[in-house]
Amino acid sequence: MAQVGEELHVIDQHTAHERVLFQRLWRGWQSRDMPSQPLLIPVPVELSAAQSALLLTRSNELEKLGLLVEPFGGTAVAIRGVPVGLGKIDAALLVQDLLDDVTEWDRASSLERRVQPVLASLACHGAVRAGRVLTHPEIQRLILDWVEEGLIMTCPHGRRTAFRLSTDELAKLFGRVGWT
Ligand SMILES: [Zn+2]
Repeated sequence: MAQVGEELHVIDQHTAHERVLFQRLWRGWQSRDMPSQPLLIPVPVELSAAQSALLLTRSNELEKLGLLVEPFGGTAVAIRGVPVGLGKIDAALLVQDLLDDVTEWDRASSLERRVQPVLASLACHGAVRAGRVLTHPEIQRLILDWVEEGLIMTCPHGRRTAFRLSTDELAKLFGRVGWT
């Protein structure tokens, strides 16, 4: 919970952070600036032959999003790098979401519609988990970043990021209207 300007905000740390990361990734992609950060220990993710082939045939396009996916013996794949600026990522969970995103590519009507779900998956997996205890500076950073990105009220998947109450609404809630 935080006071932002004159309002009381109840903020979901996961969805708000996800929105911040998504906005940054989206700007990076639009300006063709998606540097990749190598993962120190690439984790192999076991897939079926069809899933592995599906992901690897798209590896050149994924690389343009800062995402380095490589074969890892048999039908496993490993994520060797992700865009700069994301938090700790669970490779197995990310790969499952990427498979869903890439499966939809054939139906996507534009490049933007291909890219957005992948960036949303990256933002979701790179964002701080709900329930993780943040330090005070981390909380301040997150709220400042979220405000700077324009207080967008949903994550890229449409889930709410915050609940806002103005001073007027608070006054009404507490029956303070007309009082000073
Ligand atoms: Zn989301």
